[in-house]
Amino acid sequence: MKIQYLGTAAAEGIPAIFCQCETCKKSRKAGGKNIRTRSQALIDDTILIDLPADTYMHSLVNNIDLSKIHTCIITHDHGDHLYPLEIANRRNGFAHLDDGDTLDIYVTTPGYNKLALVKEKFDDNSQHRVQLHKIEQFESFVAQGYEINAFKAYHSELCEPVFYAIKKDEKSILYAHDTGIFLEETWDALKKYGTKFDLVSLDCTFSVQPWTEGEHMTLKSNAIVRDRLFEMGLADENTVFVANHFTHNGMATHDEIKKVADEMGFITSYDGMVIEV
Ligand SMILES: [Zn+2]
Ligand SMILES: [Zn+2]
Ligand SMILES: [Zn+2]
Repeated sequence: MKIQYLGTAAAEGIPAIFCQCETCKKSRKAGGKNIRTRSQALIDDTILIDLPADTYMHSLVNNIDLSKIHTCIITHDHGDHLYPLEIANRRNGFAHLDDGDTLDIYVTTPGYNKLALVKEKFDDNSQHRVQLHKIEQFESFVAQGYEINAFKAYHSELCEPVFYAIKKDEKSILYAHDTGIFLEETWDALKKYGTKFDLVSLDCTFSVQPWTEGEHMTLKSNAIVRDRLFEMGLADENTVFVANHFTHNGMATHDEIKKVADEMGFITSYDGMVIEV
């Protein structure tokens, strides 16, 4: 299974769009992996995770033909993960598609409602081009042969946030953004899920900061999650661990995060990174 990281930043990007902080200045100057766009990933060129405003730019930079993507799963409706207006560009007159080329979007209620408002403006000939599937926290479903489990995230409750386990052909990836250290009910659900992960991608919004509380994580909290996954048999020495989804408020550039993450056994994500497990 392949995961391609298209965007690896939190809401404001790095350097943040209107920011003059030291981390943003250093990141801007260093360039390369220190530049991060809003959160998005692609599994096996097939399952798109999230739909931020940077989606169009991601498709250009990575040469991805979005007309050929038919499944999109949304974690929650924060702006760095869902830009609802973009789907309007799939309707008649804005996209020329073969009949039957549907984009299925799986999303919890708050994001569903925002997307449904945009879809209302589609004419009858375009309605089939975006199919919205309202999902619940802890629901599982199958899309294009992938078994997808939506776990409840510890994140802004009003969003009904989820993070995903994606499984196919004996391979399994856990993509856990945005969330703090998991809720007990989520650990219980992961225990029931019971499959060892080949790759675990963890929210690391505040990177090198020393705390572990709250609705996002740090490298320190990532280590706590990793320990528990090992204890539960959901990870082993072959599991690849990735720290991802960073804010400039973590006060570290990619290069500075990587130094610490390498020592702790985490891969530091960057825009365009591809890992196959
Ligand atoms: Zn986010
Ligand atoms: Zn900044
Ligand atoms: Zn969020």
